[in-house]
Amino acid sequence: MSDQANKDTPDQVEFRQYCRDWLHSNRPADPPVRLPLSALEIMTTQQLDYLQTWQKSAYDAGLIGCDYPQEVGGGGRSGCQRIANEEMIGARTPYLPNIIGLGMAAPTVFYHAQEPLKQRLLPRLFSGEDIWCQGFSEPGAGSDLANVQTFAERKGDKWVITGHKVWTSLAHFAEWMIILLRTDKSHKYDGLSYFVVPIRSALGKGVTVRPLIKMTGETGFNEVIFDGLEVDDSYRLDELGKGWQVAMTTLLHERGAGELQTPRAGGLKSKSTHATNSTNLIELARNSERDGKPAADDPLLRDRIMQQVIREAGLAQNQRRARVPDLLDHPMRVQLQNKLLASEIAQQTAALALEVQGASASLYLGDENAPAGGQWPMAYMNSYGMTIAAGTSEVQRNILGERVLGMPKSK
Ligand SMILES: Cc1cc2nc3c(=O)[nH]c(=O)nc-3n(C[C@H](O)[C@H](O)[C@H](O)COP(=O)(O)OP(=O)(O)OC[C@H]3O[C@@H](n4cnc5c(N)ncnc54)[C@H](O)[C@@H]3O)c2cc1C
Repeated sequence: MSDQANKDTPDQVEFRQYCRDWLHSNRPADPPVRLPLSALEIMTTQQLDYLQTWQKSAYDAGLIGCDYPQEVGGGGRSGCQRIANEEMIGARTPYLPNIIGLGMAAPTVFYHAQEPLKQRLLPRLFSGEDIWCQGFSEPGAGSDLANVQTFAERKGDKWVITGHKVWTSLAHFAEWMIILLRTDKSHKYDGLSYFVVPIRSALGKGVTVRPLIKMTGETGFNEVIFDGLEVDDSYRLDELGKGWQVAMTTLLHERGAGELQTPRAGGLKSKSTHATNSTNLIELARNSERDGKPAADDPLLRDRIMQQVIREAGLAQNQRRARVPDLLDHPMRVQLQNKLLASEIAQQTAALALEVQGASASLYLGDENAPAGGQWPMAYMNSYGMTIAAGTSEVQRNILGERVLGMPKSK
């Protein structure tokens, strides 16, 4: 039994065993199609159907939403999502498609919505029947998020929304969006309010979703244009003008520092998926040739691969520090370091994989001669998005320096 497991309470020990048994008997079959690296790049309904079916069965079995109250569709447990996560990772299950719903929308709705709205929205969010997306970024509001200009104008009990969101992952499949809107043009922060809006049912009636093509050839994120979408005031979360504070709940959870853990899964081990880690890198080096010998025999490459192994091990150890109470004087202290490091380490690992492949790194998915199915070049290109999404590395460094370490603000 793992070190983590030794710290479980008796209830948690029982729950862990339940998860393990259930996962042993209910592991899903391999997907019928290639799955993308992460839920953020789901492109086809076939991929989505497979992953939604998996999420629904894991939810029905009680492995998702474990720590939320039963009244909102949760499991009513305490400290159990971590355990379900560890067991799903151990069982190498597929990832969950409703990643933005589970990771960001659920805690935000839970902490800030009226009770009837929570009870209506959360069960279908946990089960994955409703996919969620996040409408924060705009052409002029990314790092400077408080500059959001998409405007909601009050008309009696309704709000009429007009504006332009961008980089909205999963909007092409989403039923619902969490959205930061400007409700008052005269105040920057206090002029923001936070809503949930139904977008799928409003397509063509005030909402247009336009997929953006990435350099990998995948879609995944979108532009979302609001052109007079009318929503009820009951879709507002928290008070008018408190949107910035609500957005902080979302960002805290997006960066992994919230109390309600995000359900995670382990990355199905099949030819359909690919993990950008040093274990896969070592396998690639063993199977690649360099000067007539396995690339793994090259001492310089071995040294660099070991550096990545050490960095990953350091990251895993740092993750454990997130549970040391004395280090949690600032909720983002450890998790923000981990977001920053994990995205940069994955990028370094993917770059090294391309060096290991040499000229054959130019072969891509669908080429039968491409090493590892051509997944590494795609992983390399996608790794740049991860150092931008949820706040760029530069912005994370600013927050760590200024707000966590208390250093002077940059000019
Ligand atoms: C894969 C992916 C998925 C995404 N999904 C979503 C989503 O679902 N919903 C959503 O709302 N958004 C999403 N985003 C958008 C993301 O949040 C923004 O791209 C990010 O916040 C940066 O904003 P920007 O692109 O406008 O860049 P800008 O803010 O214009 O930044 C440009 C450059 O300037 C640097 N910079 C800016 N300000 C500072 C500063 N103060 N100090 C130092 N450097 C600075 C940045 O680091 C960056 O290098 C996604 C992005 C990616 C890549």
